[in-house]
Amino acid sequence: MPRRRQSESELTLQGIGVSPGVVTGKVFLLTSSALRVPRRPVKVHQLDHELSRFEDAITETRRQIKQIQKDMEQHTGPEDASILDAHLLVLDDRSFVEQVMRELREKKLNVEAIVADVSEKYASMLDSVSDEYLRERVADVKDVSRRILRNLQGDHESRLDRLPKGAIIVTRDLAPSETASLRKELAGGFAIDMGSPTCHTAVLARALEIPGIVGLRDVTRQVQDGDDVLMDGNRGVLVIRPGASTLRKYGKVAELRRNIERELKGLRAQPAETKDGRRITLAANIETPDELDAVLQYGAEGVGLFRSEYLYLSREDTISELDEAAAYQRVAEGLAPHSVIIRTLDIGGDKFRVESHMPLESNPFLGCRSIRLSLMHPEDFKRQLRAILRASVTKNIKIMYPMISSAAEVIRANELLAEAKRELDAAKVPYDPGIKVGVMIEIPAAALMADVLARHVSFFSIGTNDLIQYTLAVDRVNERVAYLYEPTHPAVLNLIRTTVEAAQRNRIWVGLCGEMGADPLLAPLLIGLGVDELSVAPSAVPPVKDAIRSVTFQQARQLADESLRCETAVEVLELCRKLTREAAPELLELM
Ligand code: PEP
Ligand code: MG
Repeated sequence: MPRRRQSESELTLQGIGVSPGVVTGKVFLLTSSALRVPRRPVKVHQLDHELSRFEDAITETRRQIKQIQKDMEQHTGPEDASILDAHLLVLDDRSFVEQVMRELREKKLNVEAIVADVSEKYASMLDSVSDEYLRERVADVKDVSRRILRNLQGDHESRLDRLPKGAIIVTRDLAPSETASLRKELAGGFAIDMGSPTCHTAVLARALEIPGIVGLRDVTRQVQDGDDVLMDGNRGVLVIRPGASTLRKYGKVAELRRNIERELKGLRAQPAETKDGRRITLAANIETPDELDAVLQYGAEGVGLFRSEYLYLSREDTISELDEAAAYQRVAEGLAPHSVIIRTLDIGGDKFRVESHMPLESNPFLGCRSIRLSLMHPEDFKRQLRAILRASVTKNIKIMYPMISSAAEVIRANELLAEAKRELDAAKVPYDPGIKVGVMIEIPAAALMADVLARHVSFFSIGTNDLIQYTLAVDRVNERVAYLYEPTHPAVLNLIRTTVEAAQRNRIWVGLCGEMGADPLLAPLLIGLGVDELSVAPSAVPPVKDAIRSVTFQQARQLADESLRCETAVEVLELCRKLTREAAPELLELM
């Protein structure tokens, strides 16, 4: 990674920008809180007392985590609060709890010493397996056991409790529960040694709107507590002890970005249309009905992807059919006449419920995920379909099946949909009889079979987040292979083109709802490849609209044709950058 000393005192480090914003502040250096763990033998008659102290500490820890989740739900919504579900899972893991109880009886030591030993063993066992998902759980285990140990010792203070207002937190790693407790009004930003763009800390930082840089490797050894720093969360740049000219330079960068963002907001009422009149539907991706305001505020035309699983993930009980229907109806009514595409459950992979009883799989992204789970539990699936149907009286709801890999799955899902309709008919419940059904194209097999799938549905939506990982065999959450996760890889472009051609031959429309569509640099390419709709995070609507409005459809088609002839992802990216430089240079300032 580039790293250079600019003068005696000023030092610039390059990491990965995960949450935008330019800020300056004083370093609040957090060293790993070395918790002192007492170790003393206990008598047999004291074992019950140690056990009940352990049980109390578990109860208190669960209470604290749920309290943090509740605070987060209020500040950032249930999606982000669900990140702490992994901590609750550690507490609910019987093998962890039972091992502590067993070793307590065997070793006859105080319970703090036993908890420290067991969690150490547990974490190193997870760390040694080759499965990336399990290795990511190490941080959760360490975070939870630190909390249990603190509770056992009656120490409820977090290492962030003394954070001075506006300070920039610099540390090796920030636990998700620590990030969750940060507030925009207090924390200036954070810069950490570890992490990847999709780690929980990064996700939370974006939701909390706190500038963040991860992957700086050894920033903790480069700074001292109280040092002045400047950070650019867009580009991942951290300047330690910035000089006057650097501060001036970044002051101008921040002002420029603010002006561009303000101007882009002015496009709200304008259509997403190329200069020569090709109209694109620019919709939003949402996870909960609470995002309705953001969809309206940023001027999206309806919802292209409602990730319905988030209605399930953040709660311990099952949402009732009527409550679920009410959640969909609220969004559909708020956005009518624009359409709202509700994707049926996509649980599994990296998304699990609070009280998940699903067995651990060594390849969860290739396992019992999504439509596979729905088809394994037809009654639950029909219950969700009935909820969507109930809401469809607004006539602007569409249904979408995720992770389809064969026509057989679509045929079976449609049979269950027909059953769900019959059940509502029998109960005399109204719904939209003409409700349209589509599938996500996110597995290469689906793209290659698109002609066949098109016979069974009314639309496609390309899920590039998964299509890229499954096409290139690159785990989408593994930072060690992130350099291979290339949206502009010619193989990915070919599969998008194959899908679009099949849709056109069968006269159905095709959208795209992966993160690739939210990159303004790539929007002209996707339009040139022939997609009819882009669905992106609400805040990404203005820059993507600007990108579309700055080019002609002819330029976009030429870009797509040239890209399909390229040999590498980098060549394609360079072509996209060149067009943006010519057509909408202001967008490059935001990247
Ligand atoms: C995708 O895979 O591109 C997609 C939009 O779905 P998710 O990110 O929820 O898997
Ligand atoms: Mg997907």
